[in-house]
Amino acid sequence: RRRRDTEGVVVIGLGRFGCHLATSLTQLGHEVLAIDRNPDRVQKWSPTLDRVVQADATEVGALRQLGLADFARVVVAIGASVEASVLSVLGLAELGVPQIWARATSEQHARILAAVGAQQVIFPEAETGERVAHLIVSRMLDYIEFGDDFAIAKVRAPEALFGRTLRELGPIDRYGVMVVGAKLPGEPFRYAAGDTVLAPGSILIVEGSIEQVQRFAALT
Ligand code: ADP
Repeated sequence: RRRRDTEGVVVIGLGRFGCHLATSLTQLGHEVLAIDRNPDRVQKWSPTLDRVVQADATEVGALRQLGLADFARVVVAIGASVEASVLSVLGLAELGVPQIWARATSEQHARILAAVGAQQVIFPEAETGERVAHLIVSRMLDYIEFGDDFAIAKVRAPEALFGRTLRELGPIDRYGVMVVGAKLPGEPFRYAAGDTVLAPGSILIVEGSIEQVQRFAALT
């Protein structure tokens, strides 16, 4: 059995999404092998990324030749062409790549990707759209939803919490959310403690069920 290149990550498709993904992985210290069939894209990203090769990812022979069977993690970042994205995932599954991540652009696309062998399906437009909607209409400054009905948000502290200690206010009893971090005006973020007293302009990190976090962020 061949050793898998567990450190490196392959990114297929250097469009708007794939190029950000590849550069972020590089900045995080991972070796990236980037693949695009368009020679202009390859040329554009060659100076920035470790290894950029031109290949059609729908051809399983090309994927094999590039040694993709040795990689533990491959991301199919192609969005516009559902056919190219699905065929790429299928080829990677045939090669036995253990962790295939794929980008979907619609619910149907997501279902097909999962059916042909993608373990992780990402939906950047839908996820970002939903997140930004929360940021626009509530006091949230940042928001992450996890599975199993759990969320964490960065929220401007509501007036109801000003001037008394968190111990007295009991945000878990009152709103069902746990305040895990607090940033008072002009200070850095600190772990929230029982004696933390919030002032106007404070920012909180709160966690709890999706509904309770959203309701908390909607308080005035
Ligand atoms: P974005 O919305 O991120 O810009 P696109 O789907 O428009 O996404 O771009 C995807 C990238 O994937 C493009 O650079 C395109 O050349 C590349 N691509 C499309 N099909 C293939 C394929 N079969 N093999 C390799 N790269 C591909």
